Amino acid sequence: MDKVAELEKLKIEMADDKSLPLHESNLVFGEGNPDCDVFFVGEAPGFNEDREKRPFVGRAGQLLRKCIRDLGWRENSVYITNIVKRRPPENRDPNPEEIESYKPYLARQIDIINPKIIVPLGRFSMNYFLPTAKITRDQGKLFKVEKYFILPMLHPAAALRGNEVMRMFEESFKKLPAVLDKITTGKFEESKTEERAQKKQKLEDVQAKLF
Ligand code: URA
Repeated sequence: MDKVAELEKLKIEMADDKSLPLHESNLVFGEGNPDCDVFFVGEAPGFNEDREKRPFVGRAGQLLRKCIRDLGWRENSVYITNIVKRRPPENRDPNPEEIESYKPYLARQIDIINPKIIVPLGRFSMNYFLPTAKITRDQGKLFKVEKYFILPMLHPAAALRGNEVMRMFEESFKKLPAVLDKITTGKFEESKTEERAQKKQKLEDVQAKLF
């Protein structure tokens, strides 16, 4: 089965899974290129995303999409989704049970797409990949968790709330092409990485020597 068919099958499975919370909202599965190199993961859909059944189409989404285009990339060359794939009421933060319920589906979506680099946006999504990381400390750094490179970034909604956060968000975003290039050409694997593997989670911070 090709990736498009596998993703469609997963989407139908999710739509039919009555054990998933937030069933009163629409399913916002994700969109983009199944053969992408870069996979963005936000928290959960908001009002606009629920209405359009598309991820990141509100103000934060417009910023994310503009930053992608400013790199000279087409929006549909990447893949965009969320951990929690239905809108929590009143746009509240997703709670731990909701995140837990949706996690296996995100894992399968990532396995099907098999991107070169995963960009978690904000702490909820970052902590799925890097449970002990801190967003202000670790955003913009490159990690490797099992076979995936992870480059956490601040959430674009946070960037819209303050100039300093916006500056950090934009600065990290601009690193993406160079990081991707190094991963694609295998230079990250070759370079002597400063290993700070943490015992509990196989986490390798390969950032130090690379920027
Ligand atoms: N914020 C998110 O985390 N995801 C969206 O899809 C929209 C806003």
